[in-house]
Amino acid sequence: MELSNLQRYKSLLLEKQRELSPVRDLVPAAGGWEGDVIDQANADAEAELQIRMQETDAQLLEAIEEALASMEDGTYGICSNCNRVIPKARLEAVPWTRFCRACMEALEVDSCQGSQEQVA
Ligand SMILES: [Zn+2]
Repeated sequence: MELSNLQRYKSLLLEKQRELSPVRDLVPAAGGWEGDVIDQANADAEAELQIRMQETDAQLLEAIEEALASMEDGTYGICSNCNRVIPKARLEAVPWTRFCRACMEALEVDSCQGSQEQVA
């Protein structure tokens, strides 16, 4: 991959990393406000949603770190599954991806089947 492209994806990754960084203090401190039972129920639901989102953010942050590491060892932009070059359009949209679209879809189908088996 050309260095100029690599630098572009790197800046995209770093930008996203900053956006997701837990250093931000967007989440207000717990407690300190009073509300009725319904408000409290809503607050609990909000907190639960926030936790789920943070899990996703943590996974995304991990993927971003892996992508940055793969830039260091020169494997960035190559599908971890089939070793083909990931199209630029895909890297532009999801610069932290490790898989080409075909492999991603195949893996998603696999993981869906896997979870169904666990449920059954
Ligand atoms: Zn692939």
